[in-house]
Amino acid sequence: NPKLSNRINEMATSATLAMAAKARELRAEGKDIIGLSLGEPDFTIPEFVKEAGVQAIQNDFHSYTPVDGYGDLKDAIITKFKRDNKLTYTPSQIVVSTGAKQSLANLAMVLLNDGDEVLLPAPYWVSYSDISKVAGGIPKEIKTSIETDFKITAESLQEAITPKTKMIIYSSPCNPSGSVYSKKELRALADVLVKHPDIIVVSDEIYEHILFDGEHFSMAQFEDMYDRTVVVNGVSKAFSMTGWRIGYIGAPEWIAKACTKMQGQVTSGANCIAQRATITALENPPSKIKYMVDAFKDRRSLILKLLSKIPGFKSNTPEGAFYVFPDISYYFGKTLKGKNINSASDFSLFLLEEANVATVTGEAFGDPNCIRISYAASETDIKQAMKQIKEALT
Ligand code: PLP
Repeated sequence: NPKLSNRINEMATSATLAMAAKARELRAEGKDIIGLSLGEPDFTIPEFVKEAGVQAIQNDFHSYTPVDGYGDLKDAIITKFKRDNKLTYTPSQIVVSTGAKQSLANLAMVLLNDGDEVLLPAPYWVSYSDISKVAGGIPKEIKTSIETDFKITAESLQEAITPKTKMIIYSSPCNPSGSVYSKKELRALADVLVKHPDIIVVSDEIYEHILFDGEHFSMAQFEDMYDRTVVVNGVSKAFSMTGWRIGYIGAPEWIAKACTKMQGQVTSGANCIAQRATITALENPPSKIKYMVDAFKDRRSLILKLLSKIPGFKSNTPEGAFYVFPDISYYFGKTLKGKNINSASDFSLFLLEEANVATVTGEAFGDPNCIRISYAASETDIKQAMKQIKEALT
């Protein structure tokens, strides 16, 4: 629409949300669609978090909140960073936002000038690219493949850096691949980055607790990276609080201050009730949500076992988050039920229409050979979905 800004006309609609909308449409037509497209835990929130939310309403929390978050929430975040990540922050380094998505948008808006390059190890979370673009940045994908467990190396990072590189954004555990960078792998990347001191690292750790193998490590834990790394986190995934919309950063003070300034003009402080409930959520150790992680781990085994029995699906073993990201390029150039499959989008659409299963095309994540399947769904749904996919393909 020419009446709209170039900014919005050039922006892609979130592919995950678009797929969810398409699935809803088909459901309205009476089709029984199994949704494996959204990154949303199917658990309800823990009782202790619910109670804290109710308590906040009863205690009359209702007014505008400090732009960067309640002081006692910032204290809880500082304690969490210390407890879970051995990271030390002062309150002036913490900014609470309306979801980690806003934390990321703030960072792009305050750090990027027109033409600044943003390195995105691919596959990456859908929004990194469009958030960077809307802020004037130019996303630069660093390709990986299933052979390297979808992780970049020191060499590929070095090769991608130019004098215009401003920032690198990645998630570990990764949405969509489930890959997790070890301390050793991060050190190798840090050794490249120390030679380019002006590049800011945005480390999205929102899946830190949804981890099945190995240990979570943050780039900010390296002393020589701390001053230029922003850790992004939130309660959407770990506490199943997606709709409560609370995310936060631990950052160098100058970046935190800029994010607060930005947020002060755009949204003000995050929702008061959600902030109060988040204090309680974060005060509880990760052991309190282990039941969810255990369930996701069982589902990971289940879906990997079932996928291995479907021809043409090549998967890595995701170590965290709740997605598998199989390479399905085997089907490119083939005709299935009269439909030509030439891309991951064709394949994902085929699965939606012929198997009644919603997935997301890998193209949206910067990997055109794969599709993303979320296993944040019941075991019954996972089994039924894999059965329907298998039948549609044979
Ligand atoms: N970062 C990653 C990697 C995600 O997968 C998501 C949600 O899907 C977010 C950030 C956004 O989280 P929030 O709900 O806190 O905005």
